[in-house]
Amino acid sequence: MIDLRSDTVTRPDQPMLAAMSTAELGDDVWGDDPTVLRLQAVLAERAGKEAGLFFPTGTQCNLAALMAHCARGDEYIVGQLAHTYKYEGGGAAVLGSIQPQPLENAVDGTLPLDKVAAAIKPIDDHFARTRLFALENTIGGKVLPADYVARAVELVRQRGLATHLDGARVFNAAVASGQSLAALCAPFDSVSICFSKGLGAPVGSVLLGSQALIGAAHRWRKVLGGGMRQSGVLAAACLYALDHNVERLADDHANAQLLADGLAQIDQVTVQSHATNMVFAQFPQEHCAPLEAWLKERGILTQMLYASRFATHKDVSRADIDTFLSAVKAYFARG
Ligand SMILES: *Cc1c(COP(=O)(O)O)cnc(C)c1O
Repeated sequence: MIDLRSDTVTRPDQPMLAAMSTAELGDDVWGDDPTVLRLQAVLAERAGKEAGLFFPTGTQCNLAALMAHCARGDEYIVGQLAHTYKYEGGGAAVLGSIQPQPLENAVDGTLPLDKVAAAIKPIDDHFARTRLFALENTIGGKVLPADYVARAVELVRQRGLATHLDGARVFNAAVASGQSLAALCAPFDSVSICFSKGLGAPVGSVLLGSQALIGAAHRWRKVLGGGMRQSGVLAAACLYALDHNVERLADDHANAQLLADGLAQIDQVTVQSHATNMVFAQFPQEHCAPLEAWLKERGILTQMLYASRFATHKDVSRADIDTFLSAVKAYFARG
């Protein structure tokens, strides 16, 4: 199957499985799994942070970070479209007693600075205490402008806030923009990075930050049920991905460009946006379900909504993009 629904669908390939099966293991709850320790250290070093902490999922990684920054009754400022706010089951509020203060994202994914400034509440018993400002990079595939990130972080720091980056796809941002991982992470007190997206690992996320922040997150990870034992099996996949699957994200970006260009040539389709490995396009409502079924019959998995997202990744080739485009054209060309 050609699966364009998400970049989470990649399967570990043979060399990654080999790296997993030969990993040196310990018990990470006892702190002695050497492969987990190596992943945390290697990534912290690359990102220019003091320490790292391995998590089974990005959702748990973000939640532990929010809980490390914010206490009960504190608040974090976040985009309406942010994964932490919209796609994590409301965990910050449900499990962290943290009040989200969502703001409308601008088209480029940023949070307008006047709105951010206005949302920071004065210290007063009437208000939740605004403690944290969270961004996501990439967001909807888009790389946040570096000058925006610098200005936003300067503003919120002056007001005493901490900063978190949901960098699930920060390597896509690095490869697309030519900025180093360290440069992208530098403005933030904490950064979460996913290995189960374009990097191709089966599961795994790492939180990066100061020793103190990671210490607090370590306790919350335990509370959230995320302490793992011979998790070096999983960390080995992430280490393999770091060594082999970062630069190749450029291929995914090139394939997304091909996909966007191809869809743009089809009269019935409107490409709304395209950046890094994501393409968003609109199809006539009445064609969504039949087209999705048509593609599935031809071995292509999509999620056809009014505004559909297509993600390219390691298990989608250039030829697969051509196959997909031909199938969409054939659908609209049929009598
Ligand atoms: C996928 C993703 C996460 C974490 O998701 P998990 O499925 O829990 O690993 C967090 N943030 C963003 C932006 C993501 O795309």
